[in-house]
Amino acid sequence: MALFTQAPKGTQDFLPEDTYKYQYIERRLLEIAELYGFFEIRTPMFEHTELFVRSVGGTTDVVQKEMYTFLDKKERSITLKPEGTAGAVRAVLEHGLHNKQLPVKLSYVTPCFRYEKPQAGRYRQFHQFGIEMLGSSSPAADAEIIDMMAGALASLGVNQVRLRLNSIGCPVCRPDYHAALLDYLGKVEGSLCHTCKERMKTNPLRVLDCKEPGCAAAVADAPRMLDYLCEECDTHFAGVRAQLKVLGIDYEIDTNIVRGLDYYTKTVFEFVTDTIGAQGTVCGGGRYDGLSEEMGGPPLPAMGFGMGIERLKLVMEAAGAPFPEPRGCDLYLAAIGEQAGLRAAALCQALRREGFWAEMDLQGRSVKAQMRAADRMGAHHSMVIGDGELAEGKAGVKNMRTGQTTELPLNEGFVDAFYECLINEGRQQALQSGDFIWPSTT
Ligand code: ATP
Ligand code: MG
Repeated sequence: MALFTQAPKGTQDFLPEDTYKYQYIERRLLEIAELYGFFEIRTPMFEHTELFVRSVGGTTDVVQKEMYTFLDKKERSITLKPEGTAGAVRAVLEHGLHNKQLPVKLSYVTPCFRYEKPQAGRYRQFHQFGIEMLGSSSPAADAEIIDMMAGALASLGVNQVRLRLNSIGCPVCRPDYHAALLDYLGKVEGSLCHTCKERMKTNPLRVLDCKEPGCAAAVADAPRMLDYLCEECDTHFAGVRAQLKVLGIDYEIDTNIVRGLDYYTKTVFEFVTDTIGAQGTVCGGGRYDGLSEEMGGPPLPAMGFGMGIERLKLVMEAAGAPFPEPRGCDLYLAAIGEQAGLRAAALCQALRREGFWAEMDLQGRSVKAQMRAADRMGAHHSMVIGDGELAEGKAGVKNMRTGQTTELPLNEGFVDAFYECLINEGRQQALQSGDFIWPSTT
């Protein structure tokens, strides 16, 4: 079979055998976020290009190299969102959410688009779970967000992650640091890669987290932003650390974390792991106290993070973290003959209306082949209906795991009788939500 095209490079199809894992991850993250008062916002998949240029920053890799930008039919420059914060903040300001109650607490799950070199854990369309909190400058806000993420990771069975923390100061203290850093970089310029030589002119902080070994070695003795923090930033950072201590959250200070987006100020952090190869940053975030004003809004100190859901899933799989078992088909109704087929259809409908997953044959298969189909889909129960069963008005439902058989009436009492049979077999917990059996995480 020769297909005329394939999915574009760097994109992935999520097939049903995997989507249930993503559904579980996303649902759990959103639920945990709600325990902290974060509720979901959905913003457009594309925005005016200017939004990202102004907020993410014109000299960042994201804006310079990675954005999917195009002109629409009216020649407006449009960009597919490369990250979630800019759109969320725009929406807050546009709808005046900050005029209601502070802080504004938002969560989201969104596709993001970046034109990057695809590799394991790095795609051109990927998905982020994100959190944004606007309106609090308290260190407790930083700690609350980090704690949420730490708790969420633990709840998903991920424990081989480390929290790395830094402060990159604010417009008051950063210029002095810039000057000191540039002075230092000038001395080691010869060992820097070509990109970093450019970065010295545009965005010198970014030299600190260049992945080139030569650059990493060259900046080993660079001055540290932490030594240049103004009093306000220093006090804030001390406050964050005190909060994390009380919450029992371990972290390491890493003075080379600067994050790739221009809007960050003060606290920046990452959750990293060694378990999934080179793309080990699962989650990155920080404060962006100046972004609202940059976008024409009021002063609105804020903090957030974005986590790559595909990377999180890789980490979970590497850690052997539990995923809930899909509930499975409750009853496969095999039918022999036309009349039995009609009855099977009616019974399936009645079961489905009551929240059971019921299946019947749609391929015109023999009863033997129907039973094989039931087996293959892992149906918990099966039942064969033929002329004999129709005449008697009852049929045996078989538990496919134990082989145990129970007689059920083939009339209006059918669904209730099936339910009772499940209760007798101790499977009622599967029936409460009409979806997954959640694994215990404690
Ligand atoms: P990296 O250093 O890996 O490029 P980043 O600093 O560009 O990450 P952020 O912009 O902070 O990442 O995005 C937050 C999270 O989104 C990352 O920690 C990662 O989990 C995920 N992420 C970023 N880019 C990609 C991508 N191209 N494919 C898959 N996940 C990604
Ligand atoms: Mg990147």
